[in-house]
Amino acid sequence: MHQQSTDHGNLVYTSDAPALWSGRAIFALAFALCSTSGACQTVSITGRQQFNLFSVNQDKDLGSQAYAEVIKSEKLADHGPAFDMVQRVVARLAMVADDPGFEWEVHVIDDPKTANAWCMPGGKIAVYTGILPVTQTETGLAVVLGHEIAHAVARHGTERMSTQQGADVLLGVASTQWKEAAQYQQVIGTAVNVFVFMPWGRDHELEADHIGLLYMAKAGYDPRESIEFWKRMSANSGGGAPMEFLSTHPSDDTRIAQLQKLMPEALAAYEASRGKQ
Ligand SMILES: [Zn+2]
Repeated sequence: MHQQSTDHGNLVYTSDAPALWSGRAIFALAFALCSTSGACQTVSITGRQQFNLFSVNQDKDLGSQAYAEVIKSEKLADHGPAFDMVQRVVARLAMVADDPGFEWEVHVIDDPKTANAWCMPGGKIAVYTGILPVTQTETGLAVVLGHEIAHAVARHGTERMSTQQGADVLLGVASTQWKEAAQYQQVIGTAVNVFVFMPWGRDHELEADHIGLLYMAKAGYDPRESIEFWKRMSANSGGGAPMEFLSTHPSDDTRIAQLQKLMPEALAAYEASRGKQ
């Protein structure tokens, strides 16, 4: 399950993380750990209790370092209508997100063959140009970026690292000398793997859908577009790398059923946001 990549310098994206851990197993473990430790956080909007060994500052630090490693080897687009649209959507979503002190940043990666986007812990975002034909409109892009920002705000990356890679990575991050340590490249490699290459589990995906739907609505984007986007994405998906938007979980039916259930609340938030404009 772990992608061995040569795309990003000499980083080797290996991990001891047991890929067979299901989302449900992680959530069950988190619940058990929450009741016996002090490392419990509450996720915005859903109110779920999460086991997370990392502080928000460690999210920001780890996310920034991992982001720099990926971005430095990509071809970036830094102007044009699509670039402007991406910046605008991120700015509108960041205004309404439950911001835990993130420093939002977005880059557009000129890669028409990759239909992907992600947001690392701390608010570091990438949009690949290959997703723009699927998003089609600014509202479609808001579906994607609402979902990605939700993964970061809900701190899914370090939650997963807390249960799967926890001790090793945390020791590396906590060390005052960690940026000079030989362990540094390994820690960042693991972080990039978790934040970019491993598909999220079903529960993290549904939670990101939930939070992202409300964010896009609060930012003044019609939330009904989310259902149309996921239908298009489903028609587009196929083989290839295990990346965010090729994840097979949750099933499209489960995803759309949840969006439909939440839609009245999202539409109310959308109407309220339009009233403010
Ligand atoms: Zn996702």
